[in-house]
Amino acid sequence: MSEYTSDVVVLGGGSGGYAAAIRATELGKSVVLIEKDTVGGTCLHRGCIPTKALLHAAEVADHVRSAASVGVSATFAGIDPAAVTSYREGIVAKKFKGLEGLLKARGITVVAGTGRLLPDRGVAVGDDVYRGTDVILATGSYSRSLPGLEIGGRVITSEGALALDVVPERVVILGGGVIGVEFASVWRSFGAEVTIVEALDHLVPNEDVALSKALERAYRKRGIVAKLGVRFAGITQTDAGVQVSLEDGTTLDADYLLVAVGRGPATADLGFEEAGVALERGFVTVDERLQTTVPHVWAVGDIVPGLQLAHRGFAQGIFAAEQLAGLDPVPVPEASIPRITYSSPEVASVGLTEAQARGIHGDGVAVYEYNLAGNGKSEILGTAGIVKVVRAAEGPILGVHLIGDRVGELITEGQLAVAWEAHPEDLAPLIHAHPTQSEALGEVFLALAGKPLHAL
Ligand SMILES: Cc1cc2nc3c(=O)[nH]c(=O)nc-3n(C[C@H](O)[C@H](O)[C@H](O)COP(=O)(O)OP(=O)(O)OC[C@H]3O[C@@H](n4cnc5c(N)ncnc54)[C@H](O)[C@@H]3O)c2cc1C
Repeated sequence: MSEYTSDVVVLGGGSGGYAAAIRATELGKSVVLIEKDTVGGTCLHRGCIPTKALLHAAEVADHVRSAASVGVSATFAGIDPAAVTSYREGIVAKKFKGLEGLLKARGITVVAGTGRLLPDRGVAVGDDVYRGTDVILATGSYSRSLPGLEIGGRVITSEGALALDVVPERVVILGGGVIGVEFASVWRSFGAEVTIVEALDHLVPNEDVALSKALERAYRKRGIVAKLGVRFAGITQTDAGVQVSLEDGTTLDADYLLVAVGRGPATADLGFEEAGVALERGFVTVDERLQTTVPHVWAVGDIVPGLQLAHRGFAQGIFAAEQLAGLDPVPVPEASIPRITYSSPEVASVGLTEAQARGIHGDGVAVYEYNLAGNGKSEILGTAGIVKVVRAAEGPILGVHLIGDRVGELITEGQLAVAWEAHPEDLAPLIHAHPTQSEALGEVFLALAGKPLHAL
């Protein structure tokens, strides 16, 4: 057994962990980063990047199918799953190589192995112990299932979906949240019959209901079936497929069942509680400064209750590193973290939904909804959608909600508006380039400031 010491030991090399490691070295700390699989974690290898590559391939397929509508002659000859995989893996491989190079150039010691937290800020990896003045926990999350629903064979999670080497003919997706609707979008564009089963009344149920309804309309138009407000009851599986039964008595036959019912924190059997780190329903309990119940042990990313998003992990990683280095960083503001579902159409939002705003401010809320039908660039792209902005009456913008192809790129402006508590009157004089989809946001700010241009 050997014991090694450094300023900081980071357990887990995903978005949260590697961001913390990089920022800590920038601040002059020596850092050991322990990773049992590959640095980059879920987002790079099994999440954000590979799924967005799939969604891009899906978008290209849709463009080829509809090419004639813009006067381009093209014939859609089908999807080559092996070639899509190779495109996707090529992107992941390049980003992975870049990240490895970055960590090396920063002088971060990456230790390969499974770590287990010990008391006194140690982490055991096999027979070795890595001890830090500070320890950052960043062990991420795993795909959840439902009680009694076993993953295996034709019952898959997002990891299994990425590993498929065929396009399923028929697929049932359990869960209408972000991951479920993104895979629905991909598979539909690739030619599959897709049914989403969601126990709540809407797709993307955490979003403003206006976006949920618009997505449901768009999916109906695309031929994606959404069974809403109905629960999964059971499944039988054969070599050839699955039969999914629902509590309303419906049965659905498919090649695969994708289980996309959320992600749980990866905190079991890692020594956390034995070392004094309190957990609640598996998530690590932290204070506003991301410190766990053990001084000098911090937690970042998906193991911390809240939005499970890579950019939140990056921000928390940076925050934890700055905090332990004695700076006085501003806590990561959960309320102004942008959220994007990269389906076709995309759904993007930041801040409060209308219902949440009314829950807090009652009638003191003003809302404006602009239809992308009035936006030239959206018309050119052939996308429908809406921009909805929620403000406090006579007060700041509380929430920005968008749906439409490519609108994800617009949410940054919404984030600035919400985070800076801007009033529409502050933003109305700012000029949006024409013709862009961002003009739709400009139109809403103008309307809320009482001077609509391309609207009544
Ligand atoms: C299909 C899918 C699509 C997604 N798309 C997006 C998206 O588009 N945008 C977005 O913002 N987010 C997306 N996410 C979420 C995003 O991937 C996560 O929020 C992010 O990866 C969380 O970062 P993390 O560092 O907390 O955990 P992870 O990225 O999960 O990293 C944790 C790391 O810790 C390692 N580890 C765990 N235990 C140990 C141990 N005991 N010893 C050593 N190493 C250990 C793991 O191997 C892993 O590498 C997606 C997720 C999925 C599943």
